[in-house]
Amino acid sequence: IFDVLVVGGGPAGASAAIYAARKGIKTGMLVETFGGQVMETVGIENMIGTPYTEGPQLMAQVEQHVKAYPVDIMKGQRAKDIRKNDLLEVELENGAVLQAKSIVLALGAKWRNINVPGEDAFRNKGVTYCPHCDGPLFTNKKVAVIGGGNSGIEAAIDLAGLAEHVYVLEFLPELKADQVLQDRLAQLKNVTVLKNVATKEIVGNDEVEGIIYTDRADNSEHRIDLAGVFVQIGLVPNTNWLPETIQTTDRGEIIVDKHGQTSLAGVFAAGDCTDSAYKQIIISMGSGATAALGAFDYLIRN
Ligand code: FAD
Repeated sequence: IFDVLVVGGGPAGASAAIYAARKGIKTGMLVETFGGQVMETVGIENMIGTPYTEGPQLMAQVEQHVKAYPVDIMKGQRAKDIRKNDLLEVELENGAVLQAKSIVLALGAKWRNINVPGEDAFRNKGVTYCPHCDGPLFTNKKVAVIGGGNSGIEAAIDLAGLAEHVYVLEFLPELKADQVLQDRLAQLKNVTVLKNVATKEIVGNDEVEGIIYTDRADNSEHRIDLAGVFVQIGLVPNTNWLPETIQTTDRGEIIVDKHGQTSLAGVFAAGDCTDSAYKQIIISMGSGATAALGAFDYLIRN
């Protein structure tokens, strides 16, 4: 029986495990893949105190840090249900059940897909979700960014410095990004913004050669020849398996209070799977610490 069972091994989960173990309580960590989204990140320049690092390097150091404490790390396992009997129980996909007095959910998130023909077929052959990782592959080529929210417009500004031309495709009649980003985008000569358009298909042979979209005003169909499509329509939290007793927002983000407590007593949550305002490494590490301290407070009161 664990005092604290952390589910998830990204920055939030690792931070929660270290904070819990430092209280001398029995701490477990259930992780599908250690490192989380950070493993997909190349350059990281916003870890305060570390001017530059890279995702795999940072998470190798984080794993060493966790291993400096007696944390029982169970890798390659997925949780599929949580129940509360006398204790909290986490059921794994392999049928095993882990028992704990408190839980910290640090499940993270994944890129949202556009679900059009060609997206799967051309993934990593021109379809990408990560301008920081793959932007340089499209130097002097034409690319599209799908999505006119903050991440889409940031990506477009970023890519405009490398690509020959950037097309931004927004489904709604208006961009949703902050005005300061829209103003910055408007100054760039090699960017075309297409609003009120629906992406219909990504086409090519071995690699992406074009994108087909529908103008929603008159239903006309258009094709742009290009080499890359950056999908930037948000993140989906990995929370669809949680029971209804753990409340989420309509976007699936776990609702937490300022101690990281969820709607189910003894279950805490941290990082990108929660309704926190921003999704960043340092923020998820901070909320992981909060959730572990919240769990410790819960344990000493119950
Ligand atoms: P995640 O990192 O998503 O980790 C989730 C963990 O939960 C994983 O270990 C996963 O295997 C596990 N898990 C999920 N479901 C289950 C389950 N059912 N059972 C067991 N385990 C499960 N942030 C920055 O601050 N700076 C950057 O430069 C930066 N660049 C980024 C670049 C890319 C390409 C991406 C994708 C993200 C970037 N971010 C960056 C954001 C940052 O990576 C996230 O905010 C951070 O990783 C969130 O941490 P997390 O622990 O909440 O979730």
